[in-house]
Amino acid sequence: TILTPNSPTAELQRADAAHHMHPFTHGQGLNDRGARVITRAEGCWLNDSEGNRILDAMAGLWCVNIGYGRRELAQAAARQMEELPYYNTFFQTTHVPAINLAARIAELAPGDLNHVFFASSGSEANDTNLRLVRTYWAEKGQPERQWVISRWNAYHGSSVGSGSLGGMKGMHTQGGMPIPGIAHIDQPDWWSEGGDMTPEDFGRARAKQLEDKILELGPENVAAFIAEPVQGAGGVIVAPDTYWPEVQKIVDKYGILLIADEVICGFGRTGRWFGSETVGIRPDIMTIAKGLSSGYQPIGGSVLSDEVASVISGTEFNHGYTYSGHPVACAVALENLRILDEEGVVDRVASDTGPYLKERFESLTDHPLVGEAKIVGMMGSLALTPDKASRAAFASEAGTVGYITRERCFANNLIMRHVGDRMIISPPLVISREEIDVLIERAWQSLDEAH
Ligand code: PLP
Repeated sequence: TILTPNSPTAELQRADAAHHMHPFTHGQGLNDRGARVITRAEGCWLNDSEGNRILDAMAGLWCVNIGYGRRELAQAAARQMEELPYYNTFFQTTHVPAINLAARIAELAPGDLNHVFFASSGSEANDTNLRLVRTYWAEKGQPERQWVISRWNAYHGSSVGSGSLGGMKGMHTQGGMPIPGIAHIDQPDWWSEGGDMTPEDFGRARAKQLEDKILELGPENVAAFIAEPVQGAGGVIVAPDTYWPEVQKIVDKYGILLIADEVICGFGRTGRWFGSETVGIRPDIMTIAKGLSSGYQPIGGSVLSDEVASVISGTEFNHGYTYSGHPVACAVALENLRILDEEGVVDRVASDTGPYLKERFESLTDHPLVGEAKIVGMMGSLALTPDKASRAAFASEAGTVGYITRERCFANNLIMRHVGDRMIISPPLVISREEIDVLIERAWQSLDEAH
């Protein structure tokens, strides 16, 4: 039998648990309760199979920048499906949606980031980057430049390559990651790791770790440094202001490629088109995905500077995916970018709803559980603590306060996530002031219930 959104919830959940393996999910937890079945969505709101309306303060997985239910994107997909549902861009062929989308990304991307290598996801794009930076140096006659430096608690994807680039220790203990040739330094998380240092000194100290690592490995052996402008999945970690200028100086000093993973930060999330602009860095390569299509189609890519692209073009880069530059995904992404631009969505985040969300979100620090609220554009985190003054963490037995708060949010029809004892948000960029009020009210109530 084919089930429908109107099938009984219990039946949907039974079939789900019987046959569907969920990512990043402990199976037993799911079986006890069953997954919530999301059936429709409009704007910032999800509907579930039991008739609840849920405010999605995570924009799915940080991706539905434009909000749900935009018919223009559905129509762009339908048109493209009828005209040319698939063709590849290997072996001397191309097609109009890939041509237009690459050109549009080149226009929007800062500096001379003018060349796009398409993938279907952020993970694939970061795998591309790993091979690309090493190929770049080999082509430049420096094949010994193999090391890529990343940060602990970074998230760059789930494939073996991108998961190794990431610094999620829980992932590294399963299935043979990290692969060789990747080194990690500490993250610029002042709240949790800054001790007695000022944020400014701490930012400089964490940037200095990059230089130390480069010197330890030998600058002649290092290919690239990869980082998210604002760490997302690690808990929305916003680096102190001193961090990025130092990092830029260090990569410049040693001539190392800088890869900005913009999978979350890109396409307006931080109040500029790209997070690199917000934190003031000049990457040689950007990873993009998520907001590129607002999640309506799976698409990602690597955006290369003129210089990197010209070196790579000097050889055949033996790399590509069947769905690199998929025409339907490209057509949908192009329409998404048109709407983000023409409706002034990014500007509104910068000058209107973003500042309003910041003010309201920061008011949550009045709650006894909340030590710090950090927010950049429309990505934010609350650090929960038993003692604000010492920035203490909850003892491990009680270290589930974030989890409990998340569960209370879920029950209160608000999607927030927790990373340890941080509560995080990343709502659709089109969220209104009234919806922001609902978000804050429900978050406060959920914190109260968890307290
Ligand atoms: N890079 C960052 C910064 C991400 O947040 C993610 C996903 O959350 C990825 C890469 C991986 O992207 P995907 O899940 O599309 O493979």
